[in-house]
Amino acid sequence: MIAVLIRASNNQPVTLGKQIANSGEGIVSETNLSGYLAKIYHNPTLERIEKLKVMLANPPVDPMASQHHISIAFPLDLLQDQSGAVVGFLMPAIRDSRELYTVYHPSLRKKKAPGFNWYYLHITALNTAWIIQAIHEKGYVLGDIKPQNILVNDRALVAVIDTDSFQVCDARTGKVYLCHVGSEGFTPVELLGKDFSATYQTEIHDRFRLAVLIHYLLFGYHPFSGQWLGVGESPDQTELIRQGLWYGGKNNSIRPSQNTISLDVVHPAIKQCFLKCFNDGHTAPHLRPTAQEWRMALKVGLEDLIVCQNSDSHYHSQNYGKCYWCERTTKLGVDIFPPIPGSSIGVKTATGTTVLRTPNTADPTQLLQFLPRQIQNPRKYWQVLMGIGLGSLAITTAAGMNLLSQNQSLTSSSPIIPPYSSSVPSPNHLVNDSDDCAPESSNSNGCKGTVKDPKKAEQAEMELLKQEQERQSALVAKEKQAVAEAEQEQDRQLVAEAEQEQDRQLVAEAEQARLEAGRQKRERQAALRLERTRQTAIRANERAEIEQARSEAGRQKRERQVALRLKQSRQARIGAERRRQIAIKALDKTSSPQKHKHQERSINQDANSVNSAKPWESRVLIKRASDDLENIIKGEKP
Ligand SMILES: [Zn+2]
Repeated sequence: MIAVLIRASNNQPVTLGKQIANSGEGIVSETNLSGYLAKIYHNPTLERIEKLKVMLANPPVDPMASQHHISIAFPLDLLQDQSGAVVGFLMPAIRDSRELYTVYHPSLRKKKAPGFNWYYLHITALNTAWIIQAIHEKGYVLGDIKPQNILVNDRALVAVIDTDSFQVCDARTGKVYLCHVGSEGFTPVELLGKDFSATYQTEIHDRFRLAVLIHYLLFGYHPFSGQWLGVGESPDQTELIRQGLWYGGKNNSIRPSQNTISLDVVHPAIKQCFLKCFNDGHTAPHLRPTAQEWRMALKVGLEDLIVCQNSDSHYHSQNYGKCYWCERTTKLGVDIFPPIPGSSIGVKTATGTTVLRTPNTADPTQLLQFLPRQIQNPRKYWQVLMGIGLGSLAITTAAGMNLLSQNQSLTSSSPIIPPYSSSVPSPNHLVNDSDDCAPESSNSNGCKGTVKDPKKAEQAEMELLKQEQERQSALVAKEKQAVAEAEQEQDRQLVAEAEQEQDRQLVAEAEQARLEAGRQKRERQAALRLERTRQTAIRANERAEIEQARSEAGRQKRERQVALRLKQSRQARIGAERRRQIAIKALDKTSSPQKHKHQERSINQDANSVNSAKPWESRVLIKRASDDLENIIKGEKP
């Protein structure tokens, strides 16, 4: 595998990244250039490279360019290896889109895109017709129109991929580079059984393919189906196409089945296109509606849609007079546009009746107002729509080369539906309408290749038919297998992503819990410390109070003691004085004056010693002096 390549236009180095798809033709990879993918051929033949050069010189005008949407993954530059040899090409990546069948297949839609109602399907069909018109206008034939080669995003914007398989005509030399591939169920009757690598195609063949695709979008199934009323078992799809037997045809072999959605539910302009393509176009391919005619019919049909008054998920044609989806739900017990839980789509009055807000085709912003509210936020709406996150919108099938990138998210701020153009440019530059597929009446051998020969021819035809049936059955089985595998892979990715998300959430929750536990622990510790401090303070206060009380009690005791002593001392003095006076009165007046004087002095001395004794001096001293005085009074003492 070549790792580093060079852009032919400017010598810029291009490094190949993750491989996105691998087909028989080549490998599609991401590149170091953001928004660009590379397709590298396994066998870059001169024919392929010349074809690319013609394409590079004549790119189609992208009708969605003004909406910042790439609708054609057209080659942008050649890629060379180190020796200068062209090995492939650079093209734009189509982001955040998924294959068309996801939105029209009822069970897939329910699972992957539950919000994609009939309104969106009409817009998707219209945008598809518009892009194909733009491609036809440059003279290209798509050749391999199939749901796997058309991607759709949340805004119902469509993109055509696998463009290098187009049939390309070099206007300068007239050389035509054929489209070598075709798909079961999308091949018009006139090309059935032909070798594509040797068959020149026209835009008229694409018209059949486009009609089948639009039928898929609006009804969810192939038009060449229904209840078989003919002899024996129902022929396979290719044989039904060959015979022009479809449920809306003028035949008695096949009729709409119980599950078939009536053609009357679409706007008459759309119904008319289907009838023209599959009835008239069966024998006169040039009568099939062009991409532009489809676009116009779809525009009319789109403007006629209103929201049902019973379900916001139902959009139905006003022309039909009632909600077909309600009718069908009652009849079959299955709603293919079931309500989306928690959503409110549509416009209703206070009384509950539906109000039609006719989109103004001249002003796309008015059309937006008619869109469900959820789509005003594309990211959110896509998630509702697809029922999944944005990371895994891209899918890859073994059947086709999907060129979308997986890792980008939507950046647009509002959903935009491309404005309708009123100009009607010629759809056909390459061929005229009565090319090699002229009506059978004029050239039955050329288109049908029918041989009239009774028994042998019938046997041979039966044998061929049987072989063809087997081959087609195998093809159908292979395709189904590829789709199933793609779905399984997608489901696996979804589950893996959901699990990863769950794991991330669990880890985050555990971390949160750990942090919360830590916080709680710290809080508890802080509370504990606070409580301890508080208790310490309380105890200190109590101690201080006790101490204070204690010292107060001591002081009071001391005061009481002092007061007592003072009292005692006062009483002692009073007593001593009284006794002195008594002693003096009792003095022997008869004794000599000297003796009398002496006695008096002695009495006074004792009294003085009592009086002079400090209150706190020994009570013994006071008592002794008092006793002396007492003795004096009693005459026991001199
Ligand atoms: Zn309804």
